Amino acid sequence: MPDNTTLIDHPLVQHKLAMMREKDTSTQKFRHLLREISMLMGYEVLRNLPMENVVIETPLEAMQAQKLSGKKLCIMPILRAGLGFVDGLLDLVPSARVGHIGLYRDPKTLEAVEYYKKFPDDLSNRLAIVVDPMLATGHSAVAAVDYVKAAGATDIRFLCLIAAPVGLETFHKSHPDVPVYTAAIDRELNDHGYILPGIGDAGDRIFGTK
Ligand code: URA
Repeated sequence: MPDNTTLIDHPLVQHKLAMMREKDTSTQKFRHLLREISMLMGYEVLRNLPMENVVIETPLEAMQAQKLSGKKLCIMPILRAGLGFVDGLLDLVPSARVGHIGLYRDPKTLEAVEYYKKFPDDLSNRLAIVVDPMLATGHSAVAAVDYVKAAGATDIRFLCLIAAPVGLETFHKSHPDVPVYTAAIDRELNDHGYILPGIGDAGDRIFGTK
């Protein structure tokens, strides 16, 4: 596992992920679990956000407390499965912006092809959290982060649910400066680029399209 990869092995995350992997988990349940897991994983991804000392008044006296120092966030889902992470992360940081990246995998080459992109203007001032449940070949993640960097972001983290070893390696080679957070590193990819044992098609499972 590359050095800047964090495996989030918290029991609650692992328990929810196991339920999500099961083939009989309903769309409704899957979505609900993804929202919960996004919050738990988001908590780790945002662990070292900068803080500042502020003076506040409790009902009894004044005190020095710590608040976030105003680092602004942009959640950047890779469409469409990345959307599954957005609500949980917005529950944690309601003021975050959301920048969408539309990519699909060419079924023959497995390369990422862009079809949509809409980012906030001030990306260079924001911490960008690029999200996609599956880091499989790594092609979409690499392309998405290429676009996010080209749009000015310099502080970027990548959050996924399950990574394949080859995807992690490919991503790390292209973007060694971008830390990856994942709940699992699975065995391998099958011939269609799906992660084994994996979760199946994350988009289909979130949106109930199969
Ligand atoms: N995308 C998915 O939805 N699932 C995989 O296993 C790999 C890529």
